[in-house]
Formats: sequence, C-alpha cells, structure tokens
Amino acid sequence: MISLEEARRIILAGCRPLELEKVDILEACGRVIGEDVYSPRDIPARANSAKDGYALRAADIKGARVSKPVVLKVTETIAAGVLPRVRVGKGQAARIMTGAVIPEGADTVVCREDTQETDKTVLVKISASRGQEIREAGEDVQKEELVIKRGSVLRPGHIGILASLGKSFVYVHQRPRVAILSTGDELVEIDEEPPPGRIVNSNSYSLAAQVSACGGIPVMLGIGRDRKAQLAKIFQAASRADVILSSGGVSVGDFDFVKDVMRDIGNEMHFWQVAMRPGKPLAFGAIEGVPLFGLPGNPVSVMVSFEQFARPCLLKMQGYTNIFRPEMKAVSARGIRKPAGFRHFLRAVVSYEKGRYVARLTGEQGSGILKSMAMANAFVIVPEQIEVVKKGEEVVVQLLDGFTAGGSTNHPGLVFGRPADV
Ligand code: AMP
Ligand code: MG
Repeated sequence: MISLEEARRIILAGCRPLELEKVDILEACGRVIGEDVYSPRDIPARANSAKDGYALRAADIKGARVSKPVVLKVTETIAAGVLPRVRVGKGQAARIMTGAVIPEGADTVVCREDTQETDKTVLVKISASRGQEIREAGEDVQKEELVIKRGSVLRPGHIGILASLGKSFVYVHQRPRVAILSTGDELVEIDEEPPPGRIVNSNSYSLAAQVSACGGIPVMLGIGRDRKAQLAKIFQAASRADVILSSGGVSVGDFDFVKDVMRDIGNEMHFWQVAMRPGKPLAFGAIEGVPLFGLPGNPVSVMVSFEQFARPCLLKMQGYTNIFRPEMKAVSARGIRKPAGFRHFLRAVVSYEKGRYVARLTGEQGSGILKSMAMANAFVIVPEQIEVVKKGEEVVVQLLDGFTAGGSTNHPGLVFGRPADV
C-alpha cells in the first residue's frame, strides 16, 4: 500500500501532454494553447478617439471654461471606420465619433458633453491636456509583441485578442480519448430492468461525466464480465485510447481479476492499494504504454479515485499545469470520528456563512451512497493520523465545483461569490 502522494507521483510520471491540434477559436476557450502568438500589427492600428466629441489642438483651448468658452470652426464630421479628410488647423475642430481616426493637426479630443454645438462652430467649455481621450496606435498590442504565450489557458479575453489579430484557428493540446469499462457479472445495461441480485451499471456514466467535465472524450466500452480472458481482450483493444479507466474487480474478492490481467498482459502494474478511504483498492498500470486505471467498483470510491488520480492525469495530457483541485480551510459543522491509518475523503457542502467557510457532510458516508457524492461540492480531507475532528474545528476541504478544465482552478472562489477570499 502506498500514500496518495506516491501514487500521484507514479501516475503523473507516466503521462505527457498530447500532440497539438488545430481548432477554430470558437472551440478554443478553456484549452491550452501550444503556440506562441505574436501580433502582426499594432492594435489599434492608428490613433483614434476614445469618446464622441471634438478633435482639436490643446493649445487652442488653453484657459477655456464654462464662463469663458473658446469658439472653434468645425471642419468636418469623422465617423468610425472613415478616414479624416482635412487637417485640423489653428482655431479649428473636427466632430469625431468614438473609434474614429484622429485627423492630422489635432492632438486632443474633448467630449461632446463639454461643448456646445452651433451650425458651423463649436463652443468648448473646458481646457484639456494634449493626448486626452486619444487612444494611441499600438496602445493595446504592439506589432511583433508576444501576446499569448504557449502553455496559456485560453480565456474569453484571449479569444477576443486572437480575433482582433485575424487569427481564426489556433493550435491547442488534444483532448485525451478515455476508454471506460465497467467490470462485474452483477451489472446490467442502463436500459435493462435488473433481475434480482443484479444492478445497473452506473459507474460508466459517472466516470464519463467526470471525464467530460475535465476536457476528456469518453469512449464507452460497456460492461466486461469477470473473466480474465475477456477482460484481457477488452483492455488490449482499448489501448488505442489515450487512457483506459476500468471500474470494479480490483479488490480481494474471488472474481476480482483486473489486477491479474494487468500483470499478465503487459506485466505493467505499477501499484495496487492507496492509503485512503474511500478508494483504497486502486490498481494502476499500463497496456502498450497506455495508462490503465483499475478503479474501485463502489460508486463513490470510483469517483473519489478518479478525482484524486485520473483527473490530474487527464489535465496534464491536455497541457494544463494547474492540475489539482484547489484546497482551503473550512470549519466543520459537526464532529467527525474515523480510525487512524487512512486519509479520508468525506463528501460535503462548503458554503460561505457569516465571514467563514463552513463544511457540512452530505449525510451517510458509505462508499455505496452515491447521493452523498451527488450533493457534494467538496471533500473534507481528514489526514491519516487524525481520529477525531471536533465540531467547529478547522478542516481542509478540496473544492469540486465551478471549474471546468484545469486552468480555471485559479478561481475557486467563484463558487462562493467571494473570489478574493480563496
Ligand atoms: P467490486 O470491487 O467489483 O467487487 O465492486 C464493488 C461493488 O461496487 C459491487 O458489489 C457493486 O455493488 C458496485 N459496483 C461495481 N461496479 C459497478 C458499476 N459499474 N456500477 C454500479 N455499481 C458498481
Ligand atoms: Mg466486481
């Protein structure tokens, strides 16, 4: 049996970021970019007006105020998208709209609200310093500037920048194809009525949802029966995927063959059993170099193991460097007792109440109580050596909600509406 950290270390050592693929920028938000993006041009390309108003020379309106406005002659009206036609000379101003190019001769824009328009002239009621309300060429992005670094997680703002550079496709790391197999003679398919003693395969579906939620592409392999030869065949075929997840058959039962199959076919079982609960009977190995997670069969255990081990692996494959769920401190709403020896992951709801985060367990904590997982937005993590947590004591919580792929985990606070606190 090994520690959670050791298990993670072994797993992550065996997975690398996948190759790049070219995607439409409309599909690229949240993905990890695999190229450096330099700007081919200045943005904005030319100095333009930040306001609707008048482009003029600051020197002409020196000392102007409401009680002593300056009169300027209006040369033309410049709409956004149209180039100015005439130079602004001494004593002149051009009516200009937001985003329109500043005419030659003008060095300042005064807002329309600070002027009074007449037929061919304008009264300017304030003075202004040079450059006021002018957006300089290249003020946002300069030509040749490195605007997006390889390895960045693309946010909506990046997508806007790519669009403004005229770049409609971008190279990002591929999403891993994840083969999902549930093992067990007791399992029936989702659309079958389970005969007595049998249960519907739900693990494949919770796993598929977890895979999608972190950017992977689930490939459903259905149910494998508890027979070595059949499992070996399925795993071998599954090694065309980037990662294989199986559930069940990794415990110490008479029909738990997944470990044997791992050992037999690739002779590549890297570890079995992690000192945690739920999730102790995790087997990890590889088939033809493809990571294979032999996840436990119990519906909660399989999900907890996925969260701790498979998710970071899938995120790393997509190029994310921020691959772990954020953790923070919260106050336990009630006392917790557990035996020493294992790290426990208890399902909880964490909420922000009266200036602090409070963790409330989501009822029964058995590894078959899937409801406890469905309701939870966090795990309370109780360390190996701790046996008692008192009501009101601080605990570490791992936050599960509100983030899609790995990059956004910088902002766990969004879940609770208090970003600054987390
Ligand atoms: P195992 O480790 O294979 O003995 O599985 C442990 C228990 O988890 C089984 O007795 C089932 O109750 C449950 N289980 C296993 N696989 C699934 C599955 N695919 N969907 C739902 N429950 C499962
Ligand atoms: Mg089984």
